[in-house]
Amino acid sequence: MADQGQPTRSAVHPDRQVLERMCMRNLLTNAEERVFFKDLESRFLLVSAGFLLDQAQGCSIDDVIGKSDFDFFSEEHAFAALEDEQRIIRTGEPIVAKIEHETFRDRPDAWVSTTKLPLRDDEGRIVGTFGISRDVTGQVLAEQALAHQALHDAVTGLANRLALIDRLSQALLSLDRTHGRVGLFYVDLDNFKVVNDSFGHDAGDRVLVEVGQRLSRISERGDTVARFGGDEFVLLRRALRDDDDARLIASRAVRSIGKGFVHEGKVLTITGSIGVVVTADPLADPATLLQQADTALYQAKGAGRDCFRLFDADLHARARANHDLDAALRKAIENKEFFLLYQPVFSLQDQSLRGVEALVRWRHPERGVIGPAEFIPLAEVRGLIGAIDTFVLDEACRQLAEWTRGEEFAEGFVVSVNLSGQQLSDTRLVERVTSSIKNHGIVPSQLCLEITETALIGELGEAATTLAALSGLGVLLALDDFGTGYSTLAHIQRLNVDILKIDRSFVEQITGNDRDRKIIGAITAMAHALGMLVVAEGIETDRQLEALTALGCDEGQGFVLARPLPPDQIAAFNRGTGDTAYHRALAGATRA
Ligand code: C2E
Ligand code: MG
Ligand code: MG
Repeated sequence: MADQGQPTRSAVHPDRQVLERMCMRNLLTNAEERVFFKDLESRFLLVSAGFLLDQAQGCSIDDVIGKSDFDFFSEEHAFAALEDEQRIIRTGEPIVAKIEHETFRDRPDAWVSTTKLPLRDDEGRIVGTFGISRDVTGQVLAEQALAHQALHDAVTGLANRLALIDRLSQALLSLDRTHGRVGLFYVDLDNFKVVNDSFGHDAGDRVLVEVGQRLSRISERGDTVARFGGDEFVLLRRALRDDDDARLIASRAVRSIGKGFVHEGKVLTITGSIGVVVTADPLADPATLLQQADTALYQAKGAGRDCFRLFDADLHARARANHDLDAALRKAIENKEFFLLYQPVFSLQDQSLRGVEALVRWRHPERGVIGPAEFIPLAEVRGLIGAIDTFVLDEACRQLAEWTRGEEFAEGFVVSVNLSGQQLSDTRLVERVTSSIKNHGIVPSQLCLEITETALIGELGEAATTLAALSGLGVLLALDDFGTGYSTLAHIQRLNVDILKIDRSFVEQITGNDRDRKIIGAITAMAHALGMLVVAEGIETDRQLEALTALGCDEGQGFVLARPLPPDQIAAFNRGTGDTAYHRALAGATRA
């Protein structure tokens, strides 16, 4: 900038050299900016007052001149500066606003932003460097805190979702080199809400911290443990050998969480469920992997919690279909897409129509009619079963009232309705049944409620109370799918059950297997001794029908007799003019 172009005019100092000297003096005596000039060996030529104050505390300008960075800063920092300055001298290129960690020998570190340029003489030759550096410690620390906050969970100090996804992406990329596997373990605490609700949020937070620590103890160098908010954690394992390796880690994590937590001298029992996904594919998508681990987690929950499940693709396809079905199911309730078919139940002794079993169907707007096996389990999980069962109960009672208004149906004609196991613990069930009976004016003993045997496994508690109350209303109770659960007849008798429905899986075996024939015979005899009626389900062949009749089964239903039918086709069976297969079968059975 020295003697090129037009001289600058100034109102104060027309003499350019005087002006430059004045400006230079001001620059060097300022206490704010750290300005320094160095020679070709990076020794200080001149420094500003600000430099003396901040970077060479306690030194005078004479102490500094001729010294280098090695006299004031850590060796590492001094070497870095020397390298930068030598490059500027070699290339003439400046270094602009470089943020550096400035490490001093005898005081706390700082962060500075430094711009360094070549120092040229009047001929334009480079004779050293000069620079100006500014303390940006406050700004850098604030940025670091923000970055930490953006990537960490405040309660546990673990990585958060964002950080985990970032490390997962890196781990996947490294698979290209390592040819290993990456595993994701998606952990969800099973009963955390109870801790929060009964012991307070502080106790809850301590449990979360402890869970994080336990997971960290299981992890290795390079792994990441993250909290996803709530009671969800994810462990990312970078180097897995195989699925068995993943199983080992998952079972250790399940055990470690299940060990219990001590709070104010009490042991809180908490368990965790884990979904695991393992991949060797460097191109796998992090979001998809997390979804897959979540799907497996959902499966672990479904399997009774306190366990882990490995993701598999079939399971995923099912979960996906379920997801679509889930949304449609919610709409189906609003749109009244459910309807009932009725499967006739006949007396095996005198072939008369004894009643029907109401079986729900879903008229799906796109997929057509769907059977209950496909949507009842989902409805149970999603808490939608109550609405479905309420519809079925009400509609079946309405239909029964319509049938019994005429002369055609005998007084003992019974409509059976299936109840989901969950309904037994719903306190409103008894109320619902009472009002359906009242609203449609039906005789309670013409309504039969079917409960599955599996709903009665374990502690009965509420279920027994509900069953007693239902029995008190005068409705019949049937135990459905008998033989698929574990109940003993004595156990059942205490539950006021009137009817035992022998499951199709037994009926299927009856003609090929002497043992099953004997079992059915024994069950029938015992049920009779206990005052129960025996109904055989799923009778598909004439031979089964014959065998069941011979064994003393009271009633039967099955495709060989009649399929589930719309209500307007039931009357035909009552008059004995229905399906010819039914007559042929019954005729065969009575001949036997
Ligand atoms: P379930 O109560 O044991 O009903 C008998 C099932 O066996 C019915 O299937 C019926 O169509 C079928 N079936 C009848 N005879 C034969 C036969 O000869 N061969 C074969 N292979 N099957 C036969 P569906 O209608 O698909 O119902 C399946 C299960 O869904 C029912 O088993 C019941 O547990 C449940 N379910 C049906 N409707 C309802 C309902 O309204 N509410 C609830 N909660 N569950 C229901
Ligand atoms: Mg049933
Ligand atoms: Mg059944």
